[in-house]
Amino acid sequence: MTSAETTSTKNTTTVPAYAAPSAKAPLERTTIERRPVGAHDVLIDIKYAGICHSDIHQARDGWGEGIFPMVPGHEIAGVVTEVGPEVTKFAVGDRVGVGCMVDSCRECENCKAGLEQYCHKGNIGTYNALDKNGEPTYGGYSTHIVVDEAYTVRIPDGLALDVAAPLLCAGITTYSPLAHWNAGPGKKVAVVGLGGLGHMAVKIAHAMGAEVTVLSQTLRKKDDGLKLGADHYYATSDEATFEELRGSFDLIVSTVSAPLPLDKYLSLLRTDGAMVNVGAPEEPVSLNLFSVIGGRKTLAGSGIGGIRETQEMLDFCAEHGLGAEIELIDADKINEAYERVLASDVRYRFVIDTSTI
Ligand code: NAP
Ligand code: ZN
Ligand code: ZN
Repeated sequence: MTSAETTSTKNTTTVPAYAAPSAKAPLERTTIERRPVGAHDVLIDIKYAGICHSDIHQARDGWGEGIFPMVPGHEIAGVVTEVGPEVTKFAVGDRVGVGCMVDSCRECENCKAGLEQYCHKGNIGTYNALDKNGEPTYGGYSTHIVVDEAYTVRIPDGLALDVAAPLLCAGITTYSPLAHWNAGPGKKVAVVGLGGLGHMAVKIAHAMGAEVTVLSQTLRKKDDGLKLGADHYYATSDEATFEELRGSFDLIVSTVSAPLPLDKYLSLLRTDGAMVNVGAPEEPVSLNLFSVIGGRKTLAGSGIGGIRETQEMLDFCAEHGLGAEIELIDADKINEAYERVLASDVRYRFVIDTSTI
């Protein structure tokens, strides 16, 4: 490690980080312990960490059962600086990423199928979780992290690390349902909410060849949406939108962080269409089941993506030149950035320059 502030003890290494000391408290600078580099571990010098709305839900304990102090951050891009003796996938100097999980049981049906995010025993989150030794995990708002190579992915050379960081959550969370529900030529896909996830959904669905419509609260970001690859852009605050687009879409991906009137959105699907929620609001939503009965519609959810699929997504994004649109910030601006995300004032992902931690 290079930082003057990092000191090794016999077991762990102390590194700087930004943490929420308790639920809803502003994040502040602190230090945390990282475990020693194990046989299968890589030590990553974190260069950039994206701010996902999930960080805010969790730092403010909106999903409940948060573990504090909490170091958020699951959109991590950096460089390997040390490898354990059994590591085979990575070498010192490799550009790597870490997303929302750092381990899982590795034995269940889903882990074996590369769907570690749906591990029957629960995957181990990059932060706000307990590792296999019962120690709390700490995320990417930090200078270094130690991660098992099996939960680390390679960032292709064509992608700069700062714009690649958000792909580790926003990218994979939208790529996975778009791929699963076959977004592609001839398919009409609507993306609800043009934030961190939404803007990547637009880029990826467009690159897959689908006809893409953005459904945003207002037309404020229309020019951006069209530049990102959308073919159409509508305001959901305008009731005429729901009349005009009734029965239009094969697939709707909702990235909205707040509860939505699902019945209205389901009316926009064609027969056999699917609405997939990746947005994870803090409150439950209600549904009139007739909204899916008429038209044999599917209401589904999707969570991040597996490790193999995350690598596939990064390779796809590199091939198509897709990075996130980012606003790079110093670490002392994290609390301000949280407020702006909550106000839908983000274009389109805040990324922390971790050298300022
Ligand atoms: P974000 O950048 O804040 O984007 C959310 C967008 O939703 C906003 O930009 C806004 O878009 C729209 N929105 C916000 N409040 C709304 C409201 N009351 N009504 C209608 N639209 C509203 O957040 P994000 O980082 O993309 O994350 C979005 C959600 O996905 C969060 O709940 C997050 O926790 C969740 N998430 C889930 C997964 C998963 O695995 N399923 C992974 C990552 C994140 P417009 O301004 O365009 O209307
Ligand atoms: Zn996330
Ligand atoms: Zn498992």
